[in-house]
Amino acid sequence: MVTYTAPINDMMFLFEKLKDNPHYCELEKYKEVNSDLAKDILEQAAKITENLILPLAKAGDEIPATFENGTVRTPPGYKEAYKKFIEDGWVSLSCDPEYGGQGIPKTISAFFDEMLSSSSLSFKLYSELSIGAYNCILHHGTESIKKKFLPKIVKGTWSGTMCLTEPACGTDLGLLKTKAVEQPDGTFELSGQKIFITSGDHDLTENIIHLVLARTPDAPSGTKGISLFLVPKIQVKEDGSLGPRNGVSTNSIESKMGIKGSATCVLNFDGAIGYMIGPKNKGLGSMFTMMNLERIVVGIQGLGISEIAYQNALNYSKERKQGKTNNSKTQNGTDLIIDHADIRRSLLNMKSTIEGERALSFWLAQQTEVSLHHSDKKIKQEASDFVSLITPVVKSLFTDMGMEITSDAMQIFGGYGYTKDQGIEQLYRDNRITPIYEGTNSIQSVDLVFRKLINKDRNVIGRYIKSIEEEIKKNKNHPQIKPLAETLNHYLKIMINFTVWIEKNMKVSKDDVSAACNDYLKVLGLIALAYSWLKVLAVSYKEMNTNKKFFEDKIETANFFFKRVLPRIDAHYNSAISGTKYIMDFKFS
Ligand SMILES: Cc1cc2nc3c(=O)[nH]c(=O)nc-3n(C[C@H](O)[C@H](O)[C@H](O)COP(=O)(O)OP(=O)(O)OC[C@H]3O[C@@H](n4cnc5c(N)ncnc54)[C@H](O)[C@@H]3O)c2cc1C
Repeated sequence: MVTYTAPINDMMFLFEKLKDNPHYCELEKYKEVNSDLAKDILEQAAKITENLILPLAKAGDEIPATFENGTVRTPPGYKEAYKKFIEDGWVSLSCDPEYGGQGIPKTISAFFDEMLSSSSLSFKLYSELSIGAYNCILHHGTESIKKKFLPKIVKGTWSGTMCLTEPACGTDLGLLKTKAVEQPDGTFELSGQKIFITSGDHDLTENIIHLVLARTPDAPSGTKGISLFLVPKIQVKEDGSLGPRNGVSTNSIESKMGIKGSATCVLNFDGAIGYMIGPKNKGLGSMFTMMNLERIVVGIQGLGISEIAYQNALNYSKERKQGKTNNSKTQNGTDLIIDHADIRRSLLNMKSTIEGERALSFWLAQQTEVSLHHSDKKIKQEASDFVSLITPVVKSLFTDMGMEITSDAMQIFGGYGYTKDQGIEQLYRDNRITPIYEGTNSIQSVDLVFRKLINKDRNVIGRYIKSIEEEIKKNKNHPQIKPLAETLNHYLKIMINFTVWIEKNMKVSKDDVSAACNDYLKVLGLIALAYSWLKVLAVSYKEMNTNKKFFEDKIETANFFFKRVLPRIDAHYNSAISGTKYIMDFKFS
């Protein structure tokens, strides 16, 4: 079975030394959130994820969620664990105290998301969409809806879902058919079918609050005619108590490659009573409040699964002996595989990516908090622009790297990785959904290039590039960091050329741009990781005397990243700008 130790040291390092966004530090509501509190939360979080939740991963893979006689049951152990999970207040961690939450910032709760993803993604998903639903209702619900639904969601006794997908409507939400007909009392009756709904039904909570996209009969076609509705599984009376069953039923659950403990449901809505959330025909915008935050969390899922895969590959490589290394000093017998150059390369590829990703997501957590809570509108907007630019990068890069890392971890285990005994192959299978759901990674890259990059109004990419250039400038006279800053400068110039190439081709060949989106996202992602590493390096040299071993490790890892990972940019750029002649003209037989 896989083992897991939450990387609290690295998390605390970021929390204490990399809080470099002055606007985040200005936020009054988090003034009391100091290092002691962060450490306390992370230690408690480590305990519950390492001891209670980690064993559920294997249990849920062996005995998946089931559907029998109209009832969905979660795997053995989930109910007891969920009870403890909500009693200890983990669902409420980042929610607003007005609704019973603990008001902890994302600079800490994102670490908890990572730990949960490492220990069991299936278990995590039962509360993850609750936080998504909470965010959506908080931003778009009326006061009475908020009062009625949020306290129970925050407590964890009710959970949430996000219902977009239908049989003929996946990526293209303009095709959705579910109908919502207004009733004389102002409620709506929803009819239609939603598929692939995560935690659409289960036995962990008293009620499930579905957030459903549907069309009113007079709505325009396409995405301009979509509204958002709150539809409880069990109706809720005025005083907040439970009423009769609503017209939502489970048709079936999916049999899947991974995350088998998570119930992925087909839901039928047959005249189910719902309440409109936000303005009519603007439902997609409201749903995006939920999806944008959720996309960051999906990126963190990829990071969490990468971390546990790395830890287990590292441990195994320190135990397994095979062959002799080039410079072996072993007289009789063989060397540990961790001494082979290629295994070391693979482990460092994982480690340098994971730690860079963690630093980047910490930066993003600060920006997100500023974008949500800063009192200055301009500062808020600027932070929101950065969040919007980097969200598809985090979602796609972290989850794609999750595939590479879980595959490489399996490789380090050799045949024992492919067979089930060690549990490594499950990480590969569990991670495989992350590049698909919450908008496929292709769609993330299209969103980045066609919507976010070309935002001329606020020149977001220009401002992001400028902030990297400033960081490079700050380090250009530092004797040890200078060479790495120059390397980043070199690759940043390539990214700038790539951006200009996209802007130019947008006018002449959209296919060329479409075929380049994925590469552009990877280039921006690698630059963003290097930018994070540069900040980590500056702190590492400054703080060296306080913890030599820790900071030397950081410096070595950063050097590996700049020499062995960052140059991937050359391949992405050169491949992308070769155009589409051999793509679009090809005749598939
Ligand atoms: C386990 C699981 C859990 C899920 N949970 C939920 C949930 O809770 N709620 C929910 O609503 N949905 C959920 N989904 C659905 C998921 O979000 C969709 O599967 C996903 O958005 C892709 O839609 P699709 O499967 O219909 O693929 P399609 O949209 O048919 O896409 C097929 C392929 O075409 C590509 N493609 C499509 N359009 C374009 C384009 N314009 N440009 C370039 N490439 C394109 C896609 O990237 C993909 O590779 C879940 C799915 C699974 C498997």
